Amino acid sequence: MIPAAFAYFRPTNVKEALTLLDQYKDEAKLLAGGHSLIPLMKLRLAQPRYVIDLGRVRELEYIRESGDQVLIGAMTRHVAVETSDLLRQRCPLLAETASVIGDAQVRNMGTIGGSLAHADPAADYPAAILALDAEMRAVSSQGERWIRAEDFFVDMLTTALQPGELLVEIKVPALPPRTGTAYVKVAQKASGFALCGVAVVLTMDQQGVCQHAAVGITGVAPKAYRARAVEQALRGQKLDASVMAAASAKAAEGIDPLEDLHASAEYRAHLARVFCRRALEQAHARI
Ligand SMILES: Cc1cc2nc3c(=O)[nH]c(=O)nc-3n(C[C@H](O)[C@H](O)[C@H](O)COP(=O)(O)OP(=O)(O)OC[C@H]3O[C@@H](n4cnc5c(N)ncnc54)[C@H](O)[C@@H]3O)c2cc1C
Repeated sequence: MIPAAFAYFRPTNVKEALTLLDQYKDEAKLLAGGHSLIPLMKLRLAQPRYVIDLGRVRELEYIRESGDQVLIGAMTRHVAVETSDLLRQRCPLLAETASVIGDAQVRNMGTIGGSLAHADPAADYPAAILALDAEMRAVSSQGERWIRAEDFFVDMLTTALQPGELLVEIKVPALPPRTGTAYVKVAQKASGFALCGVAVVLTMDQQGVCQHAAVGITGVAPKAYRARAVEQALRGQKLDASVMAAASAKAAEGIDPLEDLHASAEYRAHLARVFCRRALEQAHARI
């Protein structure tokens, strides 16, 4: 349980971090909250020769409003997302999602950027990030680019971030009126990771017809996904219990569910359908 030897760097700004990343390339790993990387290093599943600790890069810790968007620095801890008044008012889905990550120790150390860059198939944020159509800003010594949520999660533990790129910022929309959101999950008992987590964003018009529906599901497949068939079944409909139940039946359509010691593929698909219905009902009731 002792990691392989590594050289340790503690930059104080993004520029310094990028210089180090450029210098050591694939042999370097960024360290954020350390709640995923350190266990991997202790098990020697990751053996970086150089560790670049972002803990002192304070410019990456913020939550602020910009027009009709909320911007979140990558080094913002889960607890700051959970307790942010701005997010609770403008984008409550993200605060709700952060509130059910692991336990208090995990939420005090873990960061939103670390969680997204790690892309654990059972992590909570990816469901919400997908449902919100969030965008991620990545910078490197070559420049910067924005990556849409649907392009960001590529596969299990794999994102669109390239070697030498640093995730610096996450942009989520401030939600419009007559919008309800919910994140519900069934947690693996020991760790709290999601066996299934469903994030929903619903916007209705004044007549009670669904104008926008977005459903992100994590824990079920090798990467979090948008349940497009569910969304299609909701859009343009007046939502009642039977419409939401019928739509939820499509929550695992086209998905090849994960199977491991925690849950069979069949059980995960079942959880996706049941928790999709619960998330839809909760989001609808909150409008
Ligand atoms: C006991 C326990 C329970 C947990 N339960 C849950 C849970 O219920 N739900 C959940 O979602 N998560 C859970 N987690 C994971 C937790 O949320 C982690 O904090 C998170 O997955 C990783 O974030 P971190 O800041 O710790 O990143 P680190 O572990 O420091 O880094 C993770 C990876 O991301 C890379 N990285 C970090 N920051 C950046 C960046 N800015 N740009 C590019 N790459 C970067 C690192 O190089 C590394 O490869 C749990 C963890 C533990 C230990």
